[in-house]
Amino acid sequence: MLLDQLVVLYQPVVDLRTGAVVAAEALVRLRDQTTGALLAPARFLPAAERSGQVTAIDRRVAEIAVGQLGRWRTAHPGRELTIGVNVSVRDLDDLTLPARVAALAARSGVPCEAIIIELTETLASPEGRGHEAVLEQLVALGCTVTLDDFGTGFSSLSHLQRFPVGGIKVDRSFTSRLGEGSRNDRVVRSMVRLGLDLRVHVTAEGVESVAQLRLLQEMGCPYGQGYLFSRPVPAGELGDLLQRSFPVRLQQVSAAS
Ligand code: C2E
Ligand code: MG
Ligand code: MG
Repeated sequence: MLLDQLVVLYQPVVDLRTGAVVAAEALVRLRDQTTGALLAPARFLPAAERSGQVTAIDRRVAEIAVGQLGRWRTAHPGRELTIGVNVSVRDLDDLTLPARVAALAARSGVPCEAIIIELTETLASPEGRGHEAVLEQLVALGCTVTLDDFGTGFSSLSHLQRFPVGGIKVDRSFTSRLGEGSRNDRVVRSMVRLGLDLRVHVTAEGVESVAQLRLLQEMGCPYGQGYLFSRPVPAGELGDLLQRSFPVRLQQVSAAS
């Protein structure tokens, strides 16, 4: 695989109280050389995880995404946009990661506070001794460490204790079943409340319907991400989305639907 074949798409993260785009998550794709199609991470990341190549991929994605954030922030001064980058647990073996992130931020003209490190909790393995130190240094720089796919791992709650977590992303499997039964709804409500109690950012992943949006708003979930707002799109299209807000208030949504 050539790093030149990597393409980065961006999905907006929306403030569910105002409809404003507050962040973008960088999501990697691989351009198939023969067909030109974009391959989803599930098609190539598992092998890259096994070979260790994922570290080079993540490095490249972070360079592209943080550079892009710098351009968006220049175009929208005062918006304080942030970027989410997914990191593999393998990346945390690299003790030079914090220094590289700091250098990348400086080069791109963005503060480290604008960089969100999304850690997939199922991957946060118990054996990596250096991980906590690396995460703590990233946090000391000002980055936010977020637990991705929250609720699906074996030890979500212990990760909240173990890592200096600044955010949780409620896994799509919970969001997608909102409204289907009171048990799942209560679990989501508890996750939202837990995050708010811990004073960390709470984002619901995979918001696809207005009914899900309503329930999340009623639960006090501050941020959401999902196809209801936008699929992952190229940088230019995300730039267009930054010009407007999504209709999230009751009267706006009923007017639009
Ligand atoms: P993730 O970080 O949890 O990203 C969210 C995934 O859910 C993305 O899939 C996104 O396209 C999808 N999604 C967002 N909204 C909706 C929705 O409303 N409905 C549905 N059905 N899906 C939605 P994607 O892009 O295929 O990425 C899958 C996973 O691959 C990511 O999950 C992340 O764990 C990993 N990944 C993506 N980019 C990178 C990267 O640059 N580095 C590393 N290490 N992992 C990455
Ligand atoms: Mg993520
Ligand atoms: Mg996720």
